[in-house]
Amino acid sequence: MPDLILQGATVVPMDGPPEQPLGTVAARDVRIRDGRIAEVGQITPTTDDIVQSIAGLVLAPGFVHGHVHYCQTLFRGLADDLPLLDWLVRRIWPLEAAHDPESTRASAELSVAELLRGGATAAQVMESVHHAEVSLEVAATSGMTTILGNCLMDRAGPDVPAQLTTTADAALAAIEQLSDRCRSLPTVDYAVSPRFVLSCSDELSRAAAAHAVRHDLRIHTHADEHPDEGAAVRAQLGRDAIEVLHDQGLLGPRTSLAHCVHTTARERAILVETGTRVVHCPSTNLKLGSGIAPIAEYQARGIPVALGADGAPCNNRLCMLTEVRQAALLQALSAGPGRWPAAHAWHAATRGGAEVLGLADRLGSIRVGLRADLVAFDLGDPTRSLDGDLVSRLVYSAQRDAVRHVWVAGTPRVRDGVLLDLDHEALQRRAAAQLRLLLSRAGMTR
Ligand SMILES: [Zn+2]
Repeated sequence: MPDLILQGATVVPMDGPPEQPLGTVAARDVRIRDGRIAEVGQITPTTDDIVQSIAGLVLAPGFVHGHVHYCQTLFRGLADDLPLLDWLVRRIWPLEAAHDPESTRASAELSVAELLRGGATAAQVMESVHHAEVSLEVAATSGMTTILGNCLMDRAGPDVPAQLTTTADAALAAIEQLSDRCRSLPTVDYAVSPRFVLSCSDELSRAAAAHAVRHDLRIHTHADEHPDEGAAVRAQLGRDAIEVLHDQGLLGPRTSLAHCVHTTARERAILVETGTRVVHCPSTNLKLGSGIAPIAEYQARGIPVALGADGAPCNNRLCMLTEVRQAALLQALSAGPGRWPAAHAWHAATRGGAEVLGLADRLGSIRVGLRADLVAFDLGDPTRSLDGDLVSRLVYSAQRDAVRHVWVAGTPRVRDGVLLDLDHEALQRRAAAQLRLLLSRAGMTR
């Protein structure tokens, strides 16, 4: 297979030190060989090379989407204007409980199309209690580097549909089966994924943590998202969520916690001590009325931060450009302009995300040897200088239509804003048909 040379773009390599996270931004060519970045610089092509000029565009690493639920994409618009616990109990849990393999597949395929179209080339995905094996196969087929887990829920209660809870033994068996399957998949890693502290028995949480240590697996869960959830955790367990997770052995450098909006000083100290990572989901935190996470402080204290959209019914976009802008704006408001500048937001969406997910040795920068997961952004008039205010334009100005081309491991997946190998409209039609069946199973009209 000939090499592909992407020629003449302004490259944002994301290979710099923390104080200069963008690295040296300059006009460069990139050689791609066997799915990896083979050379970066001024490249003289040979007659065997395929050359694609992308002069006038900005080339950056693909987005690393730190927290998303593929199984919820079907539910976009079905759970609006609710706070977290009502959102879960009244809408999301009954809807997830009504999933079958085919509706799960339709939802996951739609998610992949939306993520790719928005420039995401890697993702961490928390799926439902059942049918996660279907999402896992969709993730494997997508070619995107994916960390995926079935969510763990063994604490039944009056608010939880019976179909959505399992026994601790069944949950552990599912962990074993799915993590085994991931071992044979080159692009999918498994994450032990308790839904949140209220959904899991102490017995299951401790056993899941031990399993993760034994098999060197990642851990991903939600924590400290909404004040009402925090109050419920304290009422039921007598401590805050991160203290409970720490005691259960679920924290450490291989763990990432979605949200962390309402952490106490003690909880923040635990995050620092244990090297636990945070995935910030700013739009969802606003839409569910949860609050603004102290991301500038986390970063100042050395807590690695990624960005994610969370699920379609709580955002309602799965667009990393939206989250980058939202994150930067919220920190300008809560911490002050300049405390967490645009370059830090961009870092969190790319290389920082790769670091949080333990993928930085594979992707997240434009560096020789890494996967050629790349996005070319069109920021408008190419005759204008791309120097100086480039990151400001990417973070604050760019919208999804700026995503012009996307490559996953060197394979073109989006060209001129169009998905090459996925029929987005057909996926949407299939998803709509599956949603009708699912709503009927759930006994809902909408
Ligand atoms: Zn979530």
